Amino acid sequence: MDTIDFRSDTVTWPTPAMRAAMAAAPVGDDVYGEDPTVSALEARAAERLGKEAGLFVSSGTQGNLIAALVHAQRGDEAILGEDAHTFCWEAGGLAVLGGITPRPLPTDALGQMDLAQVQGAIRGDNPHWPRSRLILTENSSGGNHGAAIPPVYFEALRAIANGHDLRIHLDGARLFNATTALGCEPTAITRSVDSVSICLSKGLCAPVGSVLVGDREFIHQARRTRKLVGGGMRQAGILAAAGLIALEEMTQRLGEDHALAQRLAQGLASVPGIEIDPAVVQTNMVFFTLAADAPLTPPELVAKLWDGYGIKVGIYSYRTLRAVTHYWITNDHVELLVNGLRHLLAQS
Ligand SMILES: *Cc1c(COP(=O)(O)O)cnc(C)c1O
Repeated sequence: MDTIDFRSDTVTWPTPAMRAAMAAAPVGDDVYGEDPTVSALEARAAERLGKEAGLFVSSGTQGNLIAALVHAQRGDEAILGEDAHTFCWEAGGLAVLGGITPRPLPTDALGQMDLAQVQGAIRGDNPHWPRSRLILTENSSGGNHGAAIPPVYFEALRAIANGHDLRIHLDGARLFNATTALGCEPTAITRSVDSVSICLSKGLCAPVGSVLVGDREFIHQARRTRKLVGGGMRQAGILAAAGLIALEEMTQRLGEDHALAQRLAQGLASVPGIEIDPAVVQTNMVFFTLAADAPLTPPELVAKLWDGYGIKVGIYSYRTLRAVTHYWITNDHVELLVNGLRHLLAQS
């Protein structure tokens, strides 16, 4: 990559191995089901996540939308965390395109809904009410420092869902970050949910794409829904070739990103004017807050980091910034960022 970009792990360029695999990929028309590379990626993702079948989709947002459209009908309700990506960051697709009412619930520091509140949110059969149909979950939780939620939470949700004929979808955009942090197999979590969407294009470095997995019937319906929302792609094996490397190889190295994020958090904790608790950093996301008396505002700081150091960081909310580690971030970059912030925030 040609810049030091901490804004997100979505900024990652494909690796040299990906570019080579993309150039050499066997392809066909995937809407006819004839692209061998796409089919290989779908099969491999399904196997890795312990489901019967997979579907290559253009983005995480599209994977989550398709899952919701298959699981729920117009007039149904989806229970989800108030900070869930599906609620906050997907342009309201559940409601806009699905006619599905979101039912946001408060979450704890890891992004977990309270189980009693989930139970209490499930509605009976009453003509006044939307029909409870779906529980939407997320792991790692992007709205909570990329927290990794352990399998037991999903087991508890499964027990609740089973009692009320609800479906569970997991937005696993960064599922492999979560399982790397937890030291468990993805299936320890995915076995408790009906469908899962994973992103290949974040910390896993593929240029485009996500995979949605579930049982055969679910994926059969999802394929139709993907066409409905304009997501049927043709010689998409070019993209899936990078996705296979993302899935097979890049999922193995996420611990390196997490170690760098921890190092960054520890460094930032030593900088006067920055507020951060390194203990909450479990994966590759580092959120930090400028003290009330900091000499610069976040936009001023971001501009000076870029002008003076060639570093990009993201502004997350008022006074809070975000730095995300990924394949293209090195230890030297982390040190440059910490030292740059120390210098810029030094009171004169
Ligand atoms: C990035 C992300 C998505 C989907 O993102 P796209 O940009 O549409 O690929 C979904 N959920 C979470 C938690 C994400 O971080």
